[in-house]
Amino acid sequence: RVILAFEKMREQIDRMANQAEFGLGGEHEEVLDTYRMFAYDEGWTRRINEAIDSGLTAEAAIERVQQRTRMRMRQIDDPLLADRMHDLEDLANRLLRIVSGQIGTAAAMGLRNDAILIARNLGPAELLEYDRRRLKGVILEEGSLTSHVVIVARAMGVPVLGRVRGLRGVVREGDLLLLDADHDMATVRPSAGAIEAFEARFAKSRERQAAYAALREVHPTSLDGQRVQVMINAGLRDDVANLSLTGADGIGLFRTEFQFLVSATLPQRERQTRLYRDVMDAAGDKPVVFRTVDIGGDKTLPYLRHDDGEGEENPAMGWRALRVALERDGLLKAQARALLEAGAGRTLNVMFPMVAEPWEFDAAKAVFDRQLAYLRGQKKVLPEAIRYGVMLEVPAIAEQLDLLAPKISFLSIGTNDLTQFLFAADRSNPKLAERYDWLSPAILRFIRRAVRSLEGFKVDISVCGEMGGRRLEALALLGMGIRRMSITPAAIGPIKELVGKVDLREIGAAMEGWLASPPEDLRAVLTEWATRRDIQVD
Ligand code: PEP
Ligand code: MG
Repeated sequence: RVILAFEKMREQIDRMANQAEFGLGGEHEEVLDTYRMFAYDEGWTRRINEAIDSGLTAEAAIERVQQRTRMRMRQIDDPLLADRMHDLEDLANRLLRIVSGQIGTAAAMGLRNDAILIARNLGPAELLEYDRRRLKGVILEEGSLTSHVVIVARAMGVPVLGRVRGLRGVVREGDLLLLDADHDMATVRPSAGAIEAFEARFAKSRERQAAYAALREVHPTSLDGQRVQVMINAGLRDDVANLSLTGADGIGLFRTEFQFLVSATLPQRERQTRLYRDVMDAAGDKPVVFRTVDIGGDKTLPYLRHDDGEGEENPAMGWRALRVALERDGLLKAQARALLEAGAGRTLNVMFPMVAEPWEFDAAKAVFDRQLAYLRGQKKVLPEAIRYGVMLEVPAIAEQLDLLAPKISFLSIGTNDLTQFLFAADRSNPKLAERYDWLSPAILRFIRRAVRSLEGFKVDISVCGEMGGRRLEALALLGMGIRRMSITPAAIGPIKELVGKVDLREIGAAMEGWLASPPEDLRAVLTEWATRRDIQVD
């Protein structure tokens, strides 16, 4: 069984290496080369065979060898080796799965035709394993608008529908499916009439898309002549193409953890540098805000675990983002150096996630300062300017903005996490997905207060959560003085169109009144306000 499993594993690794990856260029090559080296390692096979000869089962032999290797490697205090250890762990797990007859994931088996993926739930990394060209849609029984798998799907340009309960009981493999994510609708085994209606609707939506595309060169300016910046959220190298496709003003949130999520091992510094440089090259004159890794929560990495290896009860409030980065400061150091090197000769925008206390910002910036001093000592070309910013997504930092403001150049409000922490409502829990409204006075007043407390400071404010990409919510944000939004690329057209139809002074005054004495249903009131002015908001 072990011999056969080795053969199969090597085949899988070779196949993985030969497959075109999601247009990510050569990033995976390095990883796969190392993988292949391990997979073909004769010493490893020999040790497992010896353990079998001594009387162990195939599974036990693989585990025993794995354990011994782990112990040996642990004695050598070398981060590079530790990194390699993750490769070996991954391969050993793969081997174990094959030996014990557990088949691989659907992604590993490959998509043979255009497909809509149906699952109870998925991790963002799992989704990235699928062939982007064949994956036409995703339907999840769980998954809410702001869960990362949904965000990643949207970033990949794959329509996604969440919270469709009981779907797996209804759909059979090979069924024809119509998916209209814009209208939260999926039809299983549609009739000819349904297909026709779908195609008609689809043609309409294409028309609308064409209208948005026509706004590409338009700089969104309100009726009263105020310019609003609309930027895109991104995370993969391919996403940068959306900049020119949409004519957005820049990348307001580049989620650097996506590179970590798609790699089987910790991306080496050089690979990080290459990605950041490519992204800035591709963005040209437009600014890119790089957010340092936000790992943890629902974005777990198999090769980066908590020391005790235990799962966390509340990962979203646990060991994640800057908390991981400050504790494992090797991680942040490498990323800082990669960003500083990639930013040579240009303006570099760095943003820290999940900052709850000003000292966390200081500690993170100190890591950058030390790397900067090192590069200066090496006479390397440095960035022309470095702008540091913080995400406002943990409510605690909102109470200390006066202390933080003098240190930062920009603040970006992450409404996805902010909402979950403000309402104590797990963003990935489908049961809660519709319970709290972004147009609740709680959120709106909170954001307005944060905006006000920064008046008089030279700090640019933006919103980078999903909220800003929805027209009615964006209207409310505009009414509270937000003039910069970073949103999912598909929302750029609709938001540009919105901005062009709104008088910002008028909505500002209206919002002022509604927030002072909130109507029972602000959503309805805002919708009516917009409809009366012929502003489309759905
Ligand atoms: C947010 O929390 O609003 C955000 C933009 O970051 P992420 O969705 O990656 O947590
Ligand atoms: Mg967040």
